Amino acid sequence: MSKRVLVIGAGLGALSGAIRLARMGFEVHVYEKNASAGGKLNERQLGGYRFDTGPSLLTMPFVIDELFEFAGAARAKQLAIAPIEPICRYFFSDGATLDASANPVKMRAAIARFSQRDAAAYEKFLQYSERIYQRTAEIFLFSPIHELAKLLTLKNLGTLLHLREIDPLRTMHESVVRFFADERLVQLFDRYATYNGSNPYRAPATLNIIPYVEYVLGSYYIRGGMYRLAEALLELANQVGVQVQYSVPVQKILHDGKRATGLQIEGEQLAADYVLCGQDVVVAHEQLIGGFEGRRKKLARLEPSCSGLVFMWGVRTRHERLAHHNIFFARDYHKEFEQIFEQRVPPDDSTIYVAITSKSDPEHAPAGCENWFVLLNMPYLTSALNWIEVLPKVRALTLEKLRRFGFDLEGAIEQEDVITPEDFYRFYRSNRGSIYGLSSNSRSAAFKRPSNRSRELRGLYFAGGSTHPGGGIPLVMLSGKIAAELIAEASHRS
Ligand SMILES: Cc1cc2nc3c(=O)[nH]c(=O)nc-3n(C[C@H](O)[C@H](O)[C@H](O)COP(=O)(O)OP(=O)(O)OC[C@H]3O[C@@H](n4cnc5c(N)ncnc54)[C@H](O)[C@@H]3O)c2cc1C
Repeated sequence: MSKRVLVIGAGLGALSGAIRLARMGFEVHVYEKNASAGGKLNERQLGGYRFDTGPSLLTMPFVIDELFEFAGAARAKQLAIAPIEPICRYFFSDGATLDASANPVKMRAAIARFSQRDAAAYEKFLQYSERIYQRTAEIFLFSPIHELAKLLTLKNLGTLLHLREIDPLRTMHESVVRFFADERLVQLFDRYATYNGSNPYRAPATLNIIPYVEYVLGSYYIRGGMYRLAEALLELANQVGVQVQYSVPVQKILHDGKRATGLQIEGEQLAADYVLCGQDVVVAHEQLIGGFEGRRKKLARLEPSCSGLVFMWGVRTRHERLAHHNIFFARDYHKEFEQIFEQRVPPDDSTIYVAITSKSDPEHAPAGCENWFVLLNMPYLTSALNWIEVLPKVRALTLEKLRRFGFDLEGAIEQEDVITPEDFYRFYRSNRGSIYGLSSNSRSAAFKRPSNRSRELRGLYFAGGSTHPGGGIPLVMLSGKIAAELIAEASHRS
């Protein structure tokens, strides 16, 4: 008889794990509290405008391909993934712009317009970034870092012996300034800390791995909108026999003090051989797992990633100067991070990210119009901030800043919706509204990130942005893979 795995949540991490487990012969049931799958990767329709509500840029698509292969399906039949060019159009506070490209010749030329010296440095920077990837990917992304037996492979020991190459002691910013002299380019490469919701002035330089991933492995968009990924995973889940139920919040992870024994849902107790939890680990320990006070306190001390404020604007004008992805940088980047992470207030001059999928999929907005997804990094939730008061001020500042850059939306916004940090908690139960899980704002963050296997309860496993290897589409999908493999191994042993 198949062993039964009960899965909490249909976010990308848990869903990826569920697909693998079903393919490996387990009986798998997923319980999702919302009415649809995908978690933070979701979509919304406002009149004639369609929006992705979470991720907008895809990296490492080979992680998706590998999952489809594992499940015996062809990804290309279900999901069209296309490179995006330019990757992003950057607007700097002095009025300069730069189109970032995965084409090394174009990127070098774009940088050379800012600084000839930095154009040569770019090549060296990418080599340095690639070295970090080669040294760390296996150990920090593809392996269960907390499983000592697996960590002690020859390849991983090689990484530990060459620790200096992964640059763990400097901050990202300290290393970026060693390569680039032009302040605008420093700002551009510092920005990659925000890809997992961290602060470049505190996060370890190991995160300089991200430019290699983005510029060399490539940056992609999913035709039809990012939400197609959730739909394709759901289809795959159905094909391999995963049962998904919606609008059923899990109330408790049942256990006998030593082993997870099942879930409580709508007052009913359901028995399981294994539980895979896709809810944020910190929140799961606060709300679903009774006992283990010490562990709960320890987890609560880990710093969440930043949160975000999203405006979805259906705009009845077209803006030829904008690309699919656009960034309007803050004048003082250091101050912006100081306000987000130290003072925990909305920055008074936020960097604004604008994604317009109608540039790639015109049917996402009516003719002559655009669907603006506008994201500002914000502090994670604190009781001191009242979002009802804050929201109109931040909205006014955002519109004012866009006007200064030549994009006057006054009177052009005909549809509008917003997602606040409080909503990120409410919709997805993310830890204090964080959008990526935990921050990487210390040298030891990668090691402190909760493991994919519970330390306290046998049979309990975790997937998603708050666990190893971290936030972002490919990483949470890898967390699902790691958790599924650990469950399969445990099942073989028993
Ligand atoms: C605004 C924004 C922009 C982003 N941009 C990018 C990007 O460009 N590229 C990128 O790669 N990543 C990006 N990310 C990050 C990426 O979206 C996340 O890392 C990833 O989607 C999180 O997946 P997860 O598996 O952790 O699950 P989550 O998305 O957190 O989903 C968890 C699911 O579990 C459900 N759940 C929680 N508790 C319970 C319970 N008790 N019972 C039942 N169900 C429960 C929730 O409803 C939810 O559906 C972005 C995120 C946001 C919010």
